[in-house]
Amino acid sequence: MKTEFSPAQLANPDIAEADKILRACVHCGFCTATCPTYVLLGDELDSPRGRIYLIKEMLEKDRPPTQEVVKHIDRCLSCLACMTTCPSGVHYMHLVDQARVRIEKEYVRPLTERLLRVALAWVLPRPGLFRLSMMLARLAQPLAALLPAPKAAAASPGLLRRIKAMLALAPGKLPAPGPAGGSIFPALGPPRGRVALLQGCAQQVLAPRINQAAINVLTRHGIEVVLVKDEQCCGALTHHLGRDDDALARARANIAVWLKEADGDGLDAILVTTSGCGTVIKDYGFMLREDSNFAAAAARISALAKDITEYLGSIELQPAQQQSDLVIAYHSACSLQHGQKITHAPKELLSKNGFVVKDVPESHLCCGSAGTYNILQPDIANRLRDRKVANIAKVKPDMIAAGNIGCMVQIAGGTSVPVVHTVELLDWATGGPRPGLN
Ligand code: SF4
Ligand code: SF4
Repeated sequence: MKTEFSPAQLANPDIAEADKILRACVHCGFCTATCPTYVLLGDELDSPRGRIYLIKEMLEKDRPPTQEVVKHIDRCLSCLACMTTCPSGVHYMHLVDQARVRIEKEYVRPLTERLLRVALAWVLPRPGLFRLSMMLARLAQPLAALLPAPKAAAASPGLLRRIKAMLALAPGKLPAPGPAGGSIFPALGPPRGRVALLQGCAQQVLAPRINQAAINVLTRHGIEVVLVKDEQCCGALTHHLGRDDDALARARANIAVWLKEADGDGLDAILVTTSGCGTVIKDYGFMLREDSNFAAAAARISALAKDITEYLGSIELQPAQQQSDLVIAYHSACSLQHGQKITHAPKELLSKNGFVVKDVPESHLCCGSAGTYNILQPDIANRLRDRKVANIAKVKPDMIAAGNIGCMVQIAGGTSVPVVHTVELLDWATGGPRPGLN
């Protein structure tokens, strides 16, 4: 694609990056076929190619974002299916991230929407506040029935509709909190390695059992696990809201504490059980490339970051203790399959450990979770969830496995089949408790 940035514009490293990305696009449109919003809405401006044109216009003409641009960028799930499909290697993620930052800085949203976004950016990364908000949401759940029912995908869902979506996501009961930052779990048997495990923010409130399962599997296989003290939310939630100052501050804070640990007692890897977070941590090196104080450290941390299944696939697991013929529908989270290109390891690990693994039809399509998307765009998100659940039902599973808490909550909202994390099944197979019973 031809671009017309001026030399002065290209002196800005972000614009230079956008120029490189835009020039790679040959506007072939292959990406439209796998874009969930184009598949649902059929509007070119809700396709990757359409959005690329909108972003190009905004950046090239140095125009403030218009309502039209904001509408179509807001509808993008950042699922990155387009990046998997694109034959020209267009890095759509870095382009849309840049567009979101510009929108956040320059576009004035209606007051209620601004307040909602501030609340999400403030509450979600803070486990204490998030826990409190989930308790309040549970109390308010009976009121959800009084709020407007979902309609067909609207241009911009109203505040009440979004509140209703938020209430629907609140769990009936919250589990007790998991272990605190600073905890160390020694290897059982001869030590083979030492890793940090990302504590996460929403996940540690909604499902601490996931990291517990990871700790069980790792320590059982001779890996010492540390929950690094003073670690924060990885920044993914605010990054996807375009609030990059917040996201970068969190990235820097995490890099500092992880490096201290790596240079102290040593780390072979920083393991992540929420693939949405893993995708962003693996991108820290890019996000901080212009920060001379942090660029090298950020690149080092990104290289250490691994999804739990990526890491477990690289070590020899003991033979499965449970012989299970359970049929598992494997839901491939977008952040894992498109963001990190991890497609085989989770399924291979499950198969090797005695499960019957089934691929879900249309597995490239997002379930609609996408960070805060199911709150901000609930109607599109619900349509995607219903489509995902219907596709999952086709393989008649006993359980559904996924590697991202957002997907797990989203899918569980539309099915009675138990939804568990891949590592919970691996824990069970190698001697841990059976998942999906709580
Ligand atoms: S598939 Fe790639 S090159 Fe083709 S239009 Fe989409 S982003 Fe551009
Ligand atoms: S990230 Fe997903 S929703 Fe956004 S343009 Fe690409 S395929 Fe479509």
